[in-house]
Amino acid sequence: MTAPDRWREAAACAWPGVDPEAFYPLDLDPAGLAVTAARRICGACPVRGLCLADVMASEDPARRWGVIAGLTPEERTELHRDQLIPTRAAEVAA
Ligand code: SF4
Repeated sequence: MTAPDRWREAAACAWPGVDPEAFYPLDLDPAGLAVTAARRICGACPVRGLCLADVMASEDPARRWGVIAGLTPEERTELHRDQLIPTRAAEVAA
């Protein structure tokens, strides 16, 4: 298991050749090509569950932006609103 403070080292968004800008598209249409491209990378990420738990615990709800853990800001807001906030990686379906 990845140590809590080292999970980012395995993040797919940090892999060589992955453009960090891909996670901050101007068009956040959940069915759009830009979001789909980011989701595809997150879908292959071995630490997606930890990423989601981290962002839900630390993100400022008033300043959500970008695709994180495969979710748009609106989708993360829905998770937060519905109190489906993961507190442990084991609770997250990767
Ligand atoms: S799940 Fe998180 S850590 Fe993994 S690629 Fe997506 S944004 Fe990066």
